[in-house]
Amino acid sequence: MSAGKAIIFSAPSGSGKTSLVKHLIEHVPNLGFSISACTRDRRGRHEVHGKDYYFLTQADFKQKIDEDAFIEWEEVYAGNFYGTLKEEIQRIWDSGKAVIFDVDVKGGLALKKYFGDQALAIFVKVPSIEVLKERLSDRGTESEESLSRRIFKAEFEMKFEPQFDVSVVNDDFSVSSREAERLVREFLAH
Ligand code: 5GP
Repeated sequence: MSAGKAIIFSAPSGSGKTSLVKHLIEHVPNLGFSISACTRDRRGRHEVHGKDYYFLTQADFKQKIDEDAFIEWEEVYAGNFYGTLKEEIQRIWDSGKAVIFDVDVKGGLALKKYFGDQALAIFVKVPSIEVLKERLSDRGTESEESLSRRIFKAEFEMKFEPQFDVSVVNDDFSVSSREAERLVREFLAH
């Protein structure tokens, strides 16, 4: 009963939602990650085209907008576009899996509107803005400017939590990952 279903993980960047999504893909059967298109640069060598993202030029991204290839797309940070491709969802459902998304808050709400009851929308919370600052600086991949942009945006995004189906506080990873796993398994079972 996984094909036709969608699990949406949204949160400010630095909340640890990407680690939660990776954990779920490894531990819950029949989940396929929706690889987004984006125009930002790759972070180091560990990010792979066609695995983490489809890294596109701005021109290619704009062409896909013109072709109506996206369910939703957004300029998540000034000059950096991110979007969910329609053909990704079909690819995953055709393989008999449920699709799982790692998107920002606005994108998550757009996807929830699109999929309706076929989707479970989970908001991942950080314990506090201080913890978020620490996590983003520890990642060591952000410039001072990019860091403060992300924090500013996070403070705004926290306000949208009530519009999600459920939230998970990501403080202790072993607790939050277990809770996320329970929620997803329950949703997929019905
Ligand atoms: P990052 O640059 O840290 O990989 O991602 C920045 C933000 O963009 C994250 O919150 C991530 O979840 C979000 N994001 C990734 N793909 C998409 C997408 O397809 N659509 C939207 N709206 N946001 C996305």
